[in-house]
Amino acid sequence: MATSPFIIVAIDGGAASGKSSSSRTLSDRFDLLHVDTGSFYRALTAEMLRRGVRPDDLAALQSALADIKLSTRLRGRSAEMEINGRVAGDEIRSREVNDAVSPFAAIPELRSALLAYQRGLAGVAREKGFRGLVMEGRDIGSVIFPQADFRFFLHADAGERERRRAGQGLHDQIRERDRIDSSRKTSPLTCSDGATSINTTHVTLDQVVEQMAAAIATRLPPA
Ligand code: C5P
Repeated sequence: MATSPFIIVAIDGGAASGKSSSSRTLSDRFDLLHVDTGSFYRALTAEMLRRGVRPDDLAALQSALADIKLSTRLRGRSAEMEINGRVAGDEIRSREVNDAVSPFAAIPELRSALLAYQRGLAGVAREKGFRGLVMEGRDIGSVIFPQADFRFFLHADAGERERRRAGQGLHDQIRERDRIDSSRKTSPLTCSDGATSINTTHVTLDQVVEQMAAAIATRLPPA
């Protein structure tokens, strides 16, 4: 009997572009491990703030990173990152973390601390019997898994994305985060060559998901 392939789906895009909802839906539909790498950057940022480390103090950042061990806990189909055995809570969505995350995420040393960990999650997905992995972020298709089976880049007008965040009752500096994320030197937010770019401004989330699901279904039948 032919075995199903193990597939990797990379979904990148700016804040509130539709990545989280679409990747969760695809995770359920195709039985893929879901990984929200934004939550990893947020958790490390919260940890640095807790330790009083500023983004401009590289020595303090490096010594904090040396003291941190990353591991994984599964919650349903999602991979949660543990920092020294603990999964960060709601504080990662706080205004303080929201405002600090992009400056921290621009630091190459902090990004490289997450690089191998993120790639290793493909092994976790296989071990746990998932049929693949769907990972969302800013540099998944460009840096983490450039050979992913499917690479999508979601974008939408900033005004529409601000309306979406406001509708969720969240304060978010979308334009400022995107500006920092797109202009940093290491792994900037960008639509990498060969990725499928989808404008989500005027379409429903269902339509976005169906477009991605139709592509994936050519390789993997829904679970
Ligand atoms: O996805 P989310 O908006 O929660 O991401 C928070 C921040 O984490 C982003 O604004 C970006 O600075 C950083 N990030 C990143 N690379 C990723 C995922 C997130 O730099 N792969």
